[in-house]
Amino acid sequence: MTGDPAGKTVTVVGGGVAGLAAGCALAEAGYRVQLLERRPYVGGRASSYEHPGTGEVIDNCQHILLGCCTNLIDLYKRIGSEGEIFWSSTIHFIEPGGRQSTLQPSSLPAPLHTSSSFLGAKCFTLSDKITIARGIEGFLRHTPPDSEENFAQWLARHRQTPRTIQRFWYPVLASALNEDPEYISVRYAAKVFREAFLYSAEAGKMGIPLVPLSELYGKAVPYIESRGGSVHLRASVEAVQQVNGRWILTAGEQQFESDAVVLALPFEALAKLMPALPCNEASRDLSENLEQFGHSPITSVHLWFDRQITDLTHAALLDTTIQWLYNKSKLQGQVTSDGGHAIELVISASKALVRMERQQIIDLALKELQEFFPVVREAKLIKAAVTKEVRATYSIRPMLDSIRPGSQSPWPGIYLAGDWIATGWPSTMESGVRSGYMAAEAVANAFGHAASFVVPDLPPSGLMRLFP
Ligand SMILES: Cc1cc2nc3c(=O)[nH]c(=O)nc-3n(C[C@H](O)[C@H](O)[C@H](O)COP(=O)(O)OP(=O)(O)OC[C@H]3O[C@@H](n4cnc5c(N)ncnc54)[C@H](O)[C@@H]3O)c2cc1C
Repeated sequence: MTGDPAGKTVTVVGGGVAGLAAGCALAEAGYRVQLLERRPYVGGRASSYEHPGTGEVIDNCQHILLGCCTNLIDLYKRIGSEGEIFWSSTIHFIEPGGRQSTLQPSSLPAPLHTSSSFLGAKCFTLSDKITIARGIEGFLRHTPPDSEENFAQWLARHRQTPRTIQRFWYPVLASALNEDPEYISVRYAAKVFREAFLYSAEAGKMGIPLVPLSELYGKAVPYIESRGGSVHLRASVEAVQQVNGRWILTAGEQQFESDAVVLALPFEALAKLMPALPCNEASRDLSENLEQFGHSPITSVHLWFDRQITDLTHAALLDTTIQWLYNKSKLQGQVTSDGGHAIELVISASKALVRMERQQIIDLALKELQEFFPVVREAKLIKAAVTKEVRATYSIRPMLDSIRPGSQSPWPGIYLAGDWIATGWPSTMESGVRSGYMAAEAVANAFGHAASFVVPDLPPSGLMRLFP
C-alpha cells in the first residue's frame, strides 16, 4: 500500500461477509471505517441466532467452504477465526440401508487424486463410473465460457443417466450451487467441479465451522473498532445524498458523513435503496439488471436426539429429500443442557419444501433419516427446528455474468460489493469476501493509493497444470 489514507472516512453499508471484508481491509489500510448494519448482529446470510422455539443457538444454515476459498480463508486469518474451521478431505456418500462409500484423495497427482476411492465407491455401479468419467472428461481440459446452455442440457449432451445425476452430480454440484441443473450456468458447474475435484486435494478439502457463524464473523467487529473504525447495528440506511463532494447517509435518526461509500448489500436490498440514490443513465441500467436476478431457497432441519445417531461429522445422503447431514454436536463438541445431540440436515434448492408445513418437514426428515441410521427409530427426538431461507442465494443461471456489475457504481465515490457482483464466483461466502476486497481496492485506488487485497486462486497441481 502506498500513499496516506489518513483522514479519509469510508462508510460500509451491510455487515454481511462482503461488508465485513471491505471494512476489515480498509481499516487495516488506515481508513476510518463506519460500518452500518440493519440487523442487531453481523454476518448477514451467514449468521447464527437463538432460535425462539428451542432456546438453542443455531446457524441460519450450515455453511461450508472449500480449500480453494482463498479470500474467505484470508479473512478468517485476518480476524483470527482460522482455527475455528474443521477441515476434512473425505466425503461420505450413504445409501438408504446404510452402506457407505467414501471419496478421499490419495497420493496420486491431480486430477487422479480421488480416482482410487471413486473406483472403489460401492454407491456407483461400473456402468455409473464409466458414465461419470465421461462427464468428468468434459470438464477436464477447460472451464467453458458462459453460454445459453444450462447444466441439465450439458449433462444430457454428455449422456449422463438419471441415476448418475441423482447420485453424483446433484449431491455434488446442485448442492454447492444451490440450484436445479436446469438453472445452472455450465461455466459455474465446471468452475466448482474443477476446484473441488480436479485441481488439487488442497483446493477440494471441505471446511466446516466449529463455532456458530455469528461467533466466527463477530470477530470482525473488534478488528474494525481496534483500528479506529465503528460498527453501528440496527442502522438501516434509508437515504443517500451527496453534499459538497461528501456522501451523507441517513439511518433512522442518525446521519453518517464520509468521503466514500461501499454498498455491500444483496441485490434486492440495493434495488430497494435505488429510489433513494441519484438517478442517471447508468443507474437506470443497473436497476433493469437487478430485476433479472432471482433467488433460490435452502431449508435446514435441526434435530436434537437423546443420543448420538452417527459418528460421522458430515455425509451426503443419497436418493433422498434430505441431502446433507452435519453432526453439529460432534463438530461443536456440545450436548445441550437437556442432553440433546444436534444434527442438521441441509436441503438445497428446496423449492418443494418452502410450501410445506414445519411438522410435515420434520416428519419427512425423521422418516428418511431412519433409512440411513436405524438407531433413529429408538432415539428420542428432544426438539426440532426448521429454517427456510427463501432468499438464500441468487440463481447462477446461464449468461448471468453479462449483467453482474463490477465494484464501480453509477455514482462517483460509491462502490458496490456483495456476493452477486462480478467476482467470477457463484453465490458463496468466498464471492462475498472477494467482492468486499475488490471494493476496498477500488476505494483505495480512487484516493490514489495502490492497494491489493484480493488473494489469488490456488494454482492447479499435478497434471492439472496442463489444463489451468
Ligand atoms: C441458508 C443458506 C445457506 C448457505 N450455504 C452456504 C455455504 O454452505 N457456503 C457458502 O459459501 N455460502 C453459503 N450461502 C451463501 C452465503 O451465505 C452468501 O453468499 C454470503 O453470506 C453473502 O454475503 P453478502 O455480504 O454478500 O450478503 P448478505 O449476507 O446478505 O449481507 C448483506 C447485509 O446487508 C444488510 N442490509 C440490507 N439492507 C440494509 C440497509 N438498508 N442498511 C444497512 N444494512 C442493510 C443485511 O441485513 C445483511 O446483513 C448460504 C446462504 C444461505 C442463506
